[in-house]
Amino acid sequence: MAIDLRSDTVTRPSAAMLDAMHNAEVGDDVFNEDPTVKKLEEMCAAMFGMEAGLFCPSGTMTNQIAVKAHTQPLDEIICDKLCHIYNYETGGWAFHSGVSMRLTDGDRGIMTTEMIEKCILPDYDWYPNSKLVCIENTVNKGGGSVYTIEQMKEIGQYVKSKGLIYHLDGARIFNALTSLGKKSTDLSGIFDSISVCISKGLGAPAGSVLLGTKDFIKKSRKIRKVMGGGMRQSGYLAATCVYALENNISRLSEDHKKAKQIEVLLKKCAWVKQVLPVETNIIIFEVEDSARTAETLAAKGIRTSPFSPTLVRMVTHLDITDEMMKEIELELH
Ligand SMILES: *Cc1c(COP(=O)(O)O)cnc(C)c1O
Repeated sequence: MAIDLRSDTVTRPSAAMLDAMHNAEVGDDVFNEDPTVKKLEEMCAAMFGMEAGLFCPSGTMTNQIAVKAHTQPLDEIICDKLCHIYNYETGGWAFHSGVSMRLTDGDRGIMTTEMIEKCILPDYDWYPNSKLVCIENTVNKGGGSVYTIEQMKEIGQYVKSKGLIYHLDGARIFNALTSLGKKSTDLSGIFDSISVCISKGLGAPAGSVLLGTKDFIKKSRKIRKVMGGGMRQSGYLAATCVYALENNISRLSEDHKKAKQIEVLLKKCAWVKQVLPVETNIIIFEVEDSARTAETLAAKGIRTSPFSPTLVRMVTHLDITDEMMKEIELELH
């Protein structure tokens, strides 16, 4: 029994999800004729109190489209040094948008208004134009750390007062909301745009939705096309996302519970130096040599991700069964 804790992206669609896919009504979405894609976009927008949505193949694309739509060359993005847009999107901000980045040094990736304030530059010839603030919730590289609704709002008010634009990389926003005990509509009115991944903890095989105003989404649709993201009968994929939004949000708390159980086990292991606080479904812990630890665990049937030379990441998800948890308990010592 291989236990794959490398990421919450490794899940396979369930039989019920495949049924939803099989029964989807589809059309050509480049011609704007796929009813299931439209249904997903409208549903997701309504869930977050946003005007419109755009279905994209990946979270990297939704983030990169947002950066492109909100900026022009010579603009600068402010984000934390741990964020996905900066670290894991192949430098797309430079490639697609010709913008620069200014990084904060947040607590496990959590930025504050004071940190952002220090990044906003005066309008001199020799500085780029401060334009866009991106936060990530939960912060992947921070070990699934969570911004509260109040923190997101406070930053939003500050960002607005400075005339800047505010984007949320919400790849795991439902994990954040689950941990906070809040609803997606509680984010209504805070952000200019939101990127939501359905292929992470929600378990769809692929797909992210970008949310914003109608005008922003119209512009984003064109950018999606030029990036090669115009898909045809993508309703088959959208159907899995609709299914995931309808069925897989309330069960995220089970993943969080399992992550907590693993945290307890790791803390008892002599070879683990430190475990970052576990708030959601991500567990990051420190060891002597992460590659060697990952290898040792893999030999016991537990797959993990070496995240830095000394950090290992585990992520719980809907394909981790209670049986696997028993196995993990036996092997982690
Ligand atoms: C996974 C992830 C994304 C998007 O990744 P894709 O693999 O392109 O879907 C964006 N932001 C964060 C924080 C992520 O964890």
